[in-house]
Amino acid sequence: AKKAIIIGAGVAGIATAIRLAIKGYAVEVFEANSYPGGKLSEIEQNGYRFDAGPSLFTMPQYVDELFELAGKTPADYFRYQKLDVVCNYFYEDGTRIKAYADTQQFAAELNRSTGEPVANILKYLANSRDIYTITNHVFLERSLHRLQTYLRWDTLRSVFKLPKIDAMRSMHKANSTFFKDERVVQFFDRYATYNGSNPYQAPATLNVIPHLEHHFGAYFPEGGMHAITQALVKLAEELGVKFRYNTRVNEVVVINGIAKGVRANGEHITGDLVVSNMDVWHTYKTMLNKHPELHPEKTLLRERSSSALIFYWGIKKSFPALGLHNIFFSADYRAEFEHIWQEQDIYRDPTVYINISSKLKSDDAPPGHENWFVMINVPANTGQDWDKLIADARANILKKLSEILREDIAALIECESILDPRSIEAKTSSYKGSIYGTASNDRFAAFLRHANSSSKVKGLYFCGGSVHPGGGIPLCLLSAKIVSEAPAASAG
Ligand code: FAD
Repeated sequence: AKKAIIIGAGVAGIATAIRLAIKGYAVEVFEANSYPGGKLSEIEQNGYRFDAGPSLFTMPQYVDELFELAGKTPADYFRYQKLDVVCNYFYEDGTRIKAYADTQQFAAELNRSTGEPVANILKYLANSRDIYTITNHVFLERSLHRLQTYLRWDTLRSVFKLPKIDAMRSMHKANSTFFKDERVVQFFDRYATYNGSNPYQAPATLNVIPHLEHHFGAYFPEGGMHAITQALVKLAEELGVKFRYNTRVNEVVVINGIAKGVRANGEHITGDLVVSNMDVWHTYKTMLNKHPELHPEKTLLRERSSSALIFYWGIKKSFPALGLHNIFFSADYRAEFEHIWQEQDIYRDPTVYINISSKLKSDDAPPGHENWFVMINVPANTGQDWDKLIADARANILKKLSEILREDIAALIECESILDPRSIEAKTSSYKGSIYGTASNDRFAAFLRHANSSSKVKGLYFCGGSVHPGGGIPLCLLSAKIVSEAPAASAG
């Protein structure tokens, strides 16, 4: 059999390994860490378990698809439940919104809490669906970089319909036109952060994201988010994929413009295909540093997505007002994004997201306690004084949460770990610690993201959040699909 080498056991690397193994390849995955999953991993501390990175699970069908492709029953490996309430929202003026999964119930709740007419909300969600219908096949499910894509009828139709996808104005501008109430505008602006972008700059095309959550739903895996990694690794191993942990690849070996394998621990491991699941920036700048002529400099210069600052807190109390996903909005959203994107620092009143997996998986915290994953959006790492920024943010977050929840939160923290842009970069080699690869702050972003294959090196492919179609688990899984469907990868 032909041999495929994969650099990185992130979710896209594992999914690519599965797909190529099913095609008959002998697959070997090299992973720098001692564990698989990359950002999709977990941490344990003092009797608490936390999902380290992703917490919102959408489009579970893309995970199921991998088991089905292998002729297995997905539920034998991986189960999940649909959430009735997707998220609880808290505004500083006292407004509270429960985002129900059911569209009618959701629209009624938004109307009750803000006075926004139900008709506006339904019209907005219909618009979101329309953008999805037009863009899905073109921007997400296949390679934008192969001519074949452009020759398909549905692609052409989509291109003709471009005005409908609203790429000429910002998300915020579009949302302000749809809605009367500023809280509702803020509610929908927040979806820009799902791929690390800025709603005041990102094209209104990103208003497609609410459709993914409100139509397809939000889910919680039995066993937490990390169960996704565990189930996929199990399937991959059953298919014969070999994982080599604690093995950092140092070089992609290129001879006469063809990828001939990788070098790790001084050893040259040969392969017929090399798939990089590591950040595309580091793939070129570190793995291919001997070949600057092969670097797509313009693509590598694209603006990076935002990063995150996370406090993992063991909390010795339980809060009935909170659910699995909770948002505490800032009072001045524009100022918050100006700080992230223009000032490159952290606003004094950030929007705080709290994920509490112990709400649905009780053994994630001791009885009567909760595991709080407390996250704010922060800029990518450009050498800021993070220790100072983190100390200030921690104090501001505690003040905000203590006021809204009427409880001294600092006194309830039993244990703490912290993840910031520096440690995100160190743990997963994401350039500047950005969590979704490149940002989508301009309307060309989808076209200018790096392709899933190299135009200059034969046999070199890319999957994961830093390349087409973008970051987030569903898109990472789609990148694996596109790689495995590339012509050269079609038979092992
Ligand atoms: P990564 O997870 O980036 O992993 C890359 C792997 O490659 C790592 O394991 C790394 O060690 C390995 N590697 C790198 N260099 C080398 C080398 N030289 N040799 C060997 N191995 C190497 N997505 C969602 O869908 N929902 C969410 O709610 C969500 N929230 C997020 C919150 C946070 C805090 C973060 C950090 C991310 C979040 N995301 C979310 C995004 C999601 O986690 C990522 O898009 C996705 O997990 C990225 O997967 P990947 O396949 O690109 O690989």
